[in-house]
Amino acid sequence: MNRVLVTGGAGFLGSHLCDRLIMDGNDVICADNLYTGSKDNIRHLMSNPYFEFIRHDVTEPLYVEVDQIYNLACPASPVHYQNNPVKTTKTSVYGALNMLGLAKRVHARILQASTSEVYGDPEIHPQPESYRGCVNPIGIRACYDEGKRVAETLFFDYNRMHNLEIKVMRIFNTYGPRMNPNDGRVVSNFIVQALKGEDITIYGDGTQTRSFCYVDDLIEGMVRLMNSPADFHGPVNIGNPGEFTMVELANLVLELTGSKSKLVFQPLPQDDPLQRKPVIDLAHEKLGWEPHIQLREGLEKTIEYFKKVI
Ligand code: NAD
Ligand code: UDP
Ligand code: UDP
Repeated sequence: MNRVLVTGGAGFLGSHLCDRLIMDGNDVICADNLYTGSKDNIRHLMSNPYFEFIRHDVTEPLYVEVDQIYNLACPASPVHYQNNPVKTTKTSVYGALNMLGLAKRVHARILQASTSEVYGDPEIHPQPESYRGCVNPIGIRACYDEGKRVAETLFFDYNRMHNLEIKVMRIFNTYGPRMNPNDGRVVSNFIVQALKGEDITIYGDGTQTRSFCYVDDLIEGMVRLMNSPADFHGPVNIGNPGEFTMVELANLVLELTGSKSKLVFQPLPQDDPLQRKPVIDLAHEKLGWEPHIQLREGLEKTIEYFKKVI
C-alpha cells in the first residue's frame, strides 16, 4: 500500500484522482484549502479509513510522511485564477517549492499538474512537448501560465540538484462530472446555460479551438505517468487531440441537451489562445496511453451530471 498525498484533492480533477487511488488500494491524504474545491466532491470518501482530508494551503509548509505526491493545488478556471492573480502565482510557485521540499525530505516521487497554458497562444500547431511556448509575461493570464512555467523549472532543478523522482504532466482542457456549475470554464458554462435555457455566451467569434479530454481518460494518464519508470520525467502532454471551435462545441451541447438557447457573442478576453491541440505521441510511446472517450460521449455523461446538480 502506498501513502499518497493529493494537493487540490477536493477539486474537479483531484477528487476523481482520490477516487481512483482509493480504488487501487492506496492510503490517501487530500490537502486542499477549498478555494475552488468543495467537500461535496469528496464527501463519499470521508468515512473511508484510508482517506484523510486536511484543510491546508500549499503556500504554507506541510509535514506528512508519504510515498507519492500529486501536486494539483491551483485554481484552473481563468475566472478564478484571475480573481486574485498574486495568490495564483504564490500557489503555483510556493506550492511547488513546499511540495518539492516535502518530496526531498521523505524521498517521495512527485507529479506536477502542469498545463497546455505553458504553450501560451501557440505559434505552432498542434503542440509537441518540445515547443517552448508563446506566453505574454505581463498579461492577465500570466499569473497562471508563468506560475506553472516556474513550477516546471523548480521540478527539473530539484531533479538535477537533488535527484528527485519528478513527473511533469501538461494537461490539456479536461471536463466531466464534478466541475463546479460556477467554474466559468467553457464546457460547464455551455451545459449549465443550455440546461437553464439561458443564452450561450461565446467569447469572440467562436472560431478559436480547444481539444477536450474526458476526465476518466485524463486520470488514467496521470496514474500511468506517476508509475512510469524512474528515468522518465516528461514533460508529457495528456489530452484528446480532437479539436473543436467554440461554436461547434456550443452546437453540440444544444443538440445533446435539446435546448433552445441562443448563441450570443461577447468580447474575447485578452490573450485568449486562438488554437490548441496536443501531440500525444510521447504519452503513447512512454505510457501506452491514448484517450478513449470522444467529445459526444463525454458530453452526454457530463450533461447527465449537471442535470442532477442544478
Ligand atoms: P479545480 O479548481 O477544480 O481544482 C483545484 C483545487 O486546488 C481546488 O480544490 C482548490 O480549492 C485547490 N487549491 C487552489 N489553491 C490552493 C492552495 N493555495 N492550497 C491548497 N489547495 C488549493 O481545477 P481542476 O480542473 O481540478 O485542476 C486541477 C489541476 O490541474 C490544477 O493544478 C490545474 O492547473 C491543472 N489543470 C487542469 C486542467 C483542466 O482542464 N481541468 C488543464 C490544465 C491543467
Ligand atoms: N517543506 C515542507 N515540508 C517538508 C519539507 C520542506 O513543506 O517536509 C518546505 C520548506 O518549508 C521549504 C520548502 O519546502 O520552504 C523547500 O524545502 P527545501 O528543503 O528544499 O529547501 P530549504 O528549506 O533549504 O529552503
Ligand atoms: N469561452 C467561451 N464562453 C464561455 C467560457 C469560455 O466562449 O462562457 C471560451 C474562452 O474564451 C476560450 C475557450 O472558451 O476561448 C476555453 O475557455 P476556458 O476558460 O474553458 O479554458 P482556457 O481558455 O483556459 O483553455
